[in-house]
Amino acid sequence: MEKQVQINLSPAAAADETTIRKIAASLSGIDLSELTALRVIKRSVDARKKNIRVNLIVDVISGSNEAIPAIAPFIPLNVSLKQEVIVVGAGPAGLFAALRLIELGLRPVIIERGRDVSSRKKDIARISREQIVDPDSNYCFGEGGAGTYSDGKLYTRSKKRGDNTRVLELLCFHGTNPNIMYEAHPHLGTDKLPGIITEIRKSILEAGGQFLMGKKVIDFIIEGDSIKGVVTSGNEYFRSPFVILATGHSARDIYDICKNRGVELTMKAFAMGVRVEHPQELIDKIQYHGNPRGEFLPASSYNLAKQIDGRGVYSFCMCPGGFIVPSATMQEEVVVNGMSPSGRNSPYANSGIVVEIKPEDLNKYSSFGVMAGLEFQKELEREAWKNGGHTQRAPAQRLADFVAGENSSSLPKVSYFPGVTSSPLHNWFPKAIGRRLRDGFRLFGQVMNGYLTNEAVVVGVESRTSSPVRIPRDPENLQHIKIRGLYPCGEGSGYAGGIVSSAVDGMRVADSIGKTMGLS
Ligand SMILES: Cc1cc2nc3c(=O)[nH]c(=O)nc-3n(C[C@H](O)[C@H](O)[C@H](O)COP(=O)(O)OP(=O)(O)OC[C@H]3O[C@@H](n4cnc5c(N)ncnc54)[C@H](O)[C@@H]3O)c2cc1C
Repeated sequence: MEKQVQINLSPAAAADETTIRKIAASLSGIDLSELTALRVIKRSVDARKKNIRVNLIVDVISGSNEAIPAIAPFIPLNVSLKQEVIVVGAGPAGLFAALRLIELGLRPVIIERGRDVSSRKKDIARISREQIVDPDSNYCFGEGGAGTYSDGKLYTRSKKRGDNTRVLELLCFHGTNPNIMYEAHPHLGTDKLPGIITEIRKSILEAGGQFLMGKKVIDFIIEGDSIKGVVTSGNEYFRSPFVILATGHSARDIYDICKNRGVELTMKAFAMGVRVEHPQELIDKIQYHGNPRGEFLPASSYNLAKQIDGRGVYSFCMCPGGFIVPSATMQEEVVVNGMSPSGRNSPYANSGIVVEIKPEDLNKYSSFGVMAGLEFQKELEREAWKNGGHTQRAPAQRLADFVAGENSSSLPKVSYFPGVTSSPLHNWFPKAIGRRLRDGFRLFGQVMNGYLTNEAVVVGVESRTSSPVRIPRDPENLQHIKIRGLYPCGEGSGYAGGIVSSAVDGMRVADSIGKTMGLS
């Protein structure tokens, strides 16, 4: 017999399996000795009131019933001799496209400009230690893509539950803690992600797929209105009538290739701003109403959004117990983002706070046409480089000083390893962004009492939240609207954002290729 029950417990009780078993048996009206297994369907922390509770939805399985495995396995076909599909980029979109291609009986040939996930670690360490950014191997580029050295938050606003669940299942199959299937806000942590990426690579290779690492796509082979393959650094030609372009939104050279090759691009809204960092203890105190976090509650997070003068100002990619990281993809630019380990145990809480930018806000850059948003991003990133001190040191200012328009004579300790330089961000930030950020912070301070404080610091610049351009595709077959066989995909295509939605998009594109070939 199987029954579903809802349980509401204190955080301490929710951490004790014996208590949960007893309550689940009692609520479902069965004898504890009859209980075979529990399957957690959902777990969430409700911290809206001072009396913090944990809500659980649990399937109670009793008698001789077996607990049905919740995770559908990955069943690869041997694709060694099958039709090849070129996948450019080994981020979530490219890797999940490859896994799906294999399930469909197609052979992915993955071309990735960066290094394998463990070599990449060394390149990332050099950014902090030596202030040197390798343009092909950094926080954004390399096996695993931008999501690898991240927080690994797996929530998405996408409502396509079935597809999202399949991404989580494939992650579990490749070594992720199965709790991601039921946590309301699942996350992996930067310490776990490289191992999972390595397992995914093994699956792809074992099935007969191919990985070409350290090869950058520098051109497309286009004949008439169809793509026939790609050219890589070293002038090597790779041919296939199917090319999945999953290069992420930091691959600006790919947009240049599109433009030069007549692959139509369009502008889209995006967002830029700063990363703000508070002591985690302070955020816990605010969010947990002064209750001590103790050992049973997670490092707390927040989600803030306001409309200011017709544009959204909102928190983005909040990383409790995390670190601010240098996410530039070349020298002479400073870009920040956030990550956290699985334990979320650093003493800092950081989040992007960004302002929505629409194409009509970019008149100053109109001479760049469709690339106007990219130019605005580049300009702000170069400003950050100059104001940080011409290294990967980032410009920073105490939060209340930024809002009041006052210089910070000193800065608190921050988690950003390359270091920070005190800088009057309120002076050099573009007015339309700076003014809205300041108003936004004032309003956030009203929602979260204690948030607007000089104990917090703003660090510039958070410029790569999403792509300022879209590579438009046919909504039916997901091919580029003009170039047949070219499948723009993931965050760089402008159709996805974040790890899960990019992975879902990768699988959708693979399915579309399968359909074209009569395979699904
Ligand atoms: C520090 C950080 C933290 C983040 N935290 C989170 C988080 O917690 N949760 C979340 O959902 N999202 C997070 N994100 C965003 C998330 O990583 C991206 O949304 C996601 O990785 C996009 O997937 P993608 O496959 O479309 O592109 P990407 O992950 O950007 O992958 C693109 C790949 O293409 C390769 N490539 C680029 N150009 C070429 C070329 N010319 N030739 C060959 N290969 C090329 C790149 O090297 C890269 O590996 C974070 C991002 C960063 C940088």
